[in-house]
Amino acid sequence: MDYNQLLDRAFAELPTLSQESVDFKIPEVDSLIQGGKTVVRNISQIADKARRSSEDIAKYLTKELGTPMSINNNMLEISAKISQSSLNEKIRRFFEVYVICKECHKPDTHVENRDRGYIVIACEACGARYTVKNYQ
Ligand SMILES: [Zn+2]
Repeated sequence: MDYNQLLDRAFAELPTLSQESVDFKIPEVDSLIQGGKTVVRNISQIADKARRSSEDIAKYLTKELGTPMSINNNMLEISAKISQSSLNEKIRRFFEVYVICKECHKPDTHVENRDRGYIVIACEACGARYTVKNYQ
């Protein structure tokens, strides 16, 4: 085999990047303030994108915002007025720390283990495993 053939083979063996990972964008929060409350209307879409449960994201936001909240009819109801930009900031942080792999920067991760103090994140794209601080 000559050098070019070797090169061809090396390229053929490279894993193909899934289009979804390449185009991944952290979702924007669709929220509105109703009276003294804030309703996040797309919490289930955000949860799907993160491959986590809505309840899990609600726990994170409860810790971050220090405000009680609940999920009703696939919408997140926060018992305080929170601006859309603060929610976007929190969600962005959630994705950066808990969803997007710190090794390969793809969103193909899941929670492998969870303890009181920590969460083990496992990446299905590159096989990385690492520990982050728990928020529950
Ligand atoms: Zn990875």
